[in-house]
Amino acid sequence: SEVTISCIGCGVEIQTEEKEGIGYAPPSSLEKDQIICQRCFRLKHYNEVQDVALTDDDFLKILNGLGQVDALIVKVVDIVDFNGSFLNGLHRFVGNNPVLLIGNKSDVLPKSVKPNKLINWMKYEAKQHGLKPIDVLLCSAEKGHHIKEALASIEKQRNGKDVYIVGCTNVGKSTFINRVIKEVTGEQDVITTSQFPGTTLDMIEIPLDDGQAIIDTPGIINRDQMAHVINKKDLKQVIPRKEMKPKIFQLNEEQTLFIGGLARFDYLSGGRKSFTCYVSNELEIHRTKLEKADDLYARHKGELLSPPRAEDAESFPELVRHEFMIKEEKMDIVYSGLGWITINEKGAKVAAYAPKGVSVLIRKSLI
Ligand code: GDP
Repeated sequence: SEVTISCIGCGVEIQTEEKEGIGYAPPSSLEKDQIICQRCFRLKHYNEVQDVALTDDDFLKILNGLGQVDALIVKVVDIVDFNGSFLNGLHRFVGNNPVLLIGNKSDVLPKSVKPNKLINWMKYEAKQHGLKPIDVLLCSAEKGHHIKEALASIEKQRNGKDVYIVGCTNVGKSTFINRVIKEVTGEQDVITTSQFPGTTLDMIEIPLDDGQAIIDTPGIINRDQMAHVINKKDLKQVIPRKEMKPKIFQLNEEQTLFIGGLARFDYLSGGRKSFTCYVSNELEIHRTKLEKADDLYARHKGELLSPPRAEDAESFPELVRHEFMIKEEKMDIVYSGLGWITINEKGAKVAAYAPKGVSVLIRKSLI
């Protein structure tokens, strides 16, 4: 018969199979009298939070819980993966609680991107998804840029209430929270965990001066993220980690670009034009003739066109085609989680291909 063991820290059921999952403890720890899950272990010993993945059921419980608290909701998204990390539908669960939107990873943006243009685009996109944030800002949790500003905005908008931080996995929520812990508590050992109402999930609480707290919720998995179709080993290469260096291509009609084997861009018609790619500096871009593109992909996915690596090439999702007619100059075709291609002049017909589930959209250039 199965015996369930609970974490002495948060009470969650201990499991030893899924390293990224909630309640994970290494198998060796089962021999101890008191078992603590990896998340509580890290919190206890390093004042450091770790992201845990959620099941859909727990996710729904959290979302429902957010409607029952009276708080400020801080939603963290990845600015390079805005649509993939947006958690569409969250606003339906937060009730009347205000939402503050933070775009993380601003350090990967080329210097030429105008922050205000990006913020305006985020506001516009949020509105398209039915969300009207009370404030939108950018930060880099990793570099520590604009963390103070983010906290000042949180302080201003929370009106003496608790603050819940939500976001999907990979947006940098843990990195952000760890910054906040340092900023708010000065690294003292004051952080506690508590259970989210109606769930067995532990939340991390960072106390604030007025008796309220900043509460970190577990990261939510969104399967439609580029990060989930890529082998973990390739993520460092695929997800932009440094300032993206623009790569300019002069293309003739009926030429194709492959971004590794992850995405494809067909220039269909409009005469010779220039295109600027903004993706991870570690990804190779291959140019070929449109007529050869299908064959090249079929034969060289996983080798010349990688990532995906050879062992993943078979199971890699098919590329889905999205066609766009570019009527204005300086438009971006955005591959969520990967980056974007700026079409510098108007009058181009293009097709963008991304792995099934990964969104492709068009916007006015941020530059
Ligand atoms: P979580 O799943 O949302 O908790 O995300 P993590 O905090 O674990 O971060 C996911 C990945 O994004 C890690 O590889 C981080 O190093 C990276 N990351 C987090 N914040 C930033 C940031 O501000 N800039 C950059 N370039 N990378 C970041």
